[in-house]
Formats: sequence, structure tokens, C-alpha cells
Amino acid sequence: MITIDGPAGAGKSTVARELAKRLGFRLVDTGAMYRAFALRVKGAGLPPKTGPELNALLDQTTVELRGERVLLNGRDVSEAIRTSDVSELTSRLTTLRVVRDKATPLQRQLAAAGGVVLEGRDTGSMGGPSAEVKFYLDASETGRARRRMRELEERGRRPSLAEVRDEIARRDRQDRGRKLAPLVVPTGAIVIDSTGKSVAQVVKLMLTEVRRIQCSTRS
Ligand code: C5P
Repeated sequence: MITIDGPAGAGKSTVARELAKRLGFRLVDTGAMYRAFALRVKGAGLPPKTGPELNALLDQTTVELRGERVLLNGRDVSEAIRTSDVSELTSRLTTLRVVRDKATPLQRQLAAAGGVVLEGRDTGSMGGPSAEVKFYLDASETGRARRRMRELEERGRRPSLAEVRDEIARRDRQDRGRKLAPLVVPTGAIVIDSTGKSVAQVVKLMLTEVRRIQCSTRS
């Protein structure tokens, strides 16, 4: 089991996808799961607050990861979960215990069989605390904003760098400052700074670490 944590825009998703492909592992994008729950809450017009209405809605919600696709109550929402509105709402919702209590067991269940790359904000500490290899992928704030901007442009959006930087800084504050499962460098994690590195370079570094740890646990 491999976990990859880190702040928004550090390139976790792309790197995790590539690493999983290279190792023939299954990818579990935990952020996508949380985003799907957020889309459900948005669709129901509920505020991101604990209460009986949110509990009832979550009880009637299923999220599945099928390869790269994300299914919300059986409906493919892979594209719909990638908007800025959903990013913002997800960051708020994931501060709530009821939401984390719904998603964390799902992640552990998916990870239990092994041969998996778990990617997110708390996977090394909560989703896969027993992972053999833990990475924390970081990058400078501007580097992260540029990367996120490219992603949004690929989806036809034209935000300014300042807008994207603000969004990232806001989400960082929320993710780092929350009481429950805050964004931290998990104990024993290998920290990689992706600033100025290509996806291929980061994946190569990760593969070297994975093989080193595989060798040391076998001997
Ligand atoms: O990684 P992604 O940008 O898709 O994650 C969206 C949001 O979901 C993050 O800003 C964070 O608030 C939340 N998240 C989390 N725990 C995870 C994965 C994502 O709290 N394991």
C-alpha cells in the first residue's frame, strides 16, 4: 500500500495515476470521493453543516470509484466534481466528522487488499495508516497555482493566476487548520518537492523509493 498526501496543486493526482499505472496498482483518489459527496450536498441545496438533514442525505448517498470514473448514486460525475464551487464546498465539508466517517472506511476497504495507491490529504494518517510507503508531495505556492491554472485551462476556464493562488491559499488554510484529519506530513513519510520537476521526474523518484523499501522489507 502506498499513500500520497500533500496540498492542493502539488500534482498528486497526475503523479499518483502514473505511479499506479507503472506498478500495476489500483488508484484510489480520495479527494474525488469527497468531491462527489460535496456535489450531492450542493445538489440538495444543503449548507455544509452538521445536522439531521446532512446525516439523512449521506445515508442515501453511495460513491464508487470505477477505474478513473467517479459514480455518485450510480451516476458518472467525474467531470461535474471538478469545478471551483465543488472544490470550495469539499474543503468545508471535509471538516465535518460525519463526512469523514462516511469516506474513511470506504478508503480503508478499498486499500485492504493491497496493491493500491491512495491519494489525498490524510491518506498516510487516516485512510492507510499501515501503508508500507508514504509520500508527501509538496511544491511552492506559485508552482501549485500555475499547475492548477493549467488544469482549469484544459477544462476551458480562464482564471487569473491571482484568483487561483487565492483559492489554493484558502483551501490550504482550511485543510491545515482543521481539527479533524488536518493536512500534515505523516510520520515516516518521504517528502518530495515537485517544484520545477516534471511528472516523469517525480514518478522516477517515487519508484526508486518504492523499490528500495520493497528490497528492505523482503530481506
Ligand atoms: O485532492 P482534491 O483537490 O480533489 O481534494 C478536494 C478537497 O477534499 C481538499 O481541498 C480537501 O479539503 C479534501 N480532502 C480531504 N481528505 C482527503 C482528500 C481530500 O480532506 N483525503
